[in-house]
Amino acid sequence: MHLEIPALATYPRFKLMEGPTSIQALERLQRRLGGVNVYVKRDDVMGVGGGGNKLRKLEFLIGEAISSGADTVITVGARQSNHARLTAAAAARAGLACELVLTRTVPRTSEAYVTNGNVLLDELLGAVIHDLPASEDAMSFAQHRASELEANGHRVYICPLGGSSATGCLGYAACALEIELQSAEMGVRFDEIVVPHGSGGTHAGLVAGYAALGRSAADVRAHTVLAQDEQARAASLEKATAALRLLGHNAKLSADDLNIDATHLGDGYGAPTDSMRDALRLLARTEGLLLDPVYSGKAFAGLLHDIDSGRYRVGENVLFVMTGGLPGLFAYRDAF
Ligand SMILES: *Cc1c(COP(=O)(O)O)cnc(C)c1O
Repeated sequence: MHLEIPALATYPRFKLMEGPTSIQALERLQRRLGGVNVYVKRDDVMGVGGGGNKLRKLEFLIGEAISSGADTVITVGARQSNHARLTAAAAARAGLACELVLTRTVPRTSEAYVTNGNVLLDELLGAVIHDLPASEDAMSFAQHRASELEANGHRVYICPLGGSSATGCLGYAACALEIELQSAEMGVRFDEIVVPHGSGGTHAGLVAGYAALGRSAADVRAHTVLAQDEQARAASLEKATAALRLLGHNAKLSADDLNIDATHLGDGYGAPTDSMRDALRLLARTEGLLLDPVYSGKAFAGLLHDIDSGRYRVGENVLFVMTGGLPGLFAYRDAF
């Protein structure tokens, strides 16, 4: 395998990370699980805004915003969006104003959900918050707000849901390269990389990065926490293809090549499941590591289920990407 993706260096990038995130073996958990080698990539540990997977995308998104001359960034998300919080942090660090259009799409009304967790941090980071009911379209609101600001002389950059534009996906294409360089250094080949799938950019970016490196899309397994199987597949296919094109590749991906599992979604985005609670407690109590209730908890439940049902052979190496989201846990006090 040729370990470089030269096109990545041609896009503007605003540095938000210190360097590669670490990869750790979960040795105690492994003993409990009977011989599959489980590793975690600590994308939950990063230096800005509490960290999490969105910072990788934001390096390229804020890079694009700055080079387009923007002075304000607007993004959209659920009330407890980690992406919104990290966009506020990245914008602050880049000296840009930030407005967040947050919808009440998750039907939770506890004080913790509405005001604590990410919302507390959004406020501390200086973002303007627009609070929308579930029925309103956040992106049209954002576009309308952008025209209003532009009429007053501002230049606005709009970040899509989850930061998952083709440009944002470049952050996870770069992560695929980072993983392969670490893998070579460790002398461990990861048979499968496992991630949560929300807006899909994490999965699509990794798929694009691996395709650019000549490795199969099927080696990245995504557990959906937002869309049903077919929509998740379509989103990943479209985003991975667009990201690959930015990387100068015309490789043909097909929806059937994508490795997506929708069995741990439960009652939908942001709705806690028993298997998520079990997974979260197990990892906390065997390794002292904290998952989040919306994304990584459900994806880790998917991984545990896959291990129990014999998807992996003894001695295989599986790398789970811990994507962050710890602040969201505090919004779910009443779910535990
Ligand atoms: C957004 C998010 C994800 C999902 O990433 P996508 O690129 O939107 O699929 C996973 N984990 C956490 C903690 C997130 O905030």
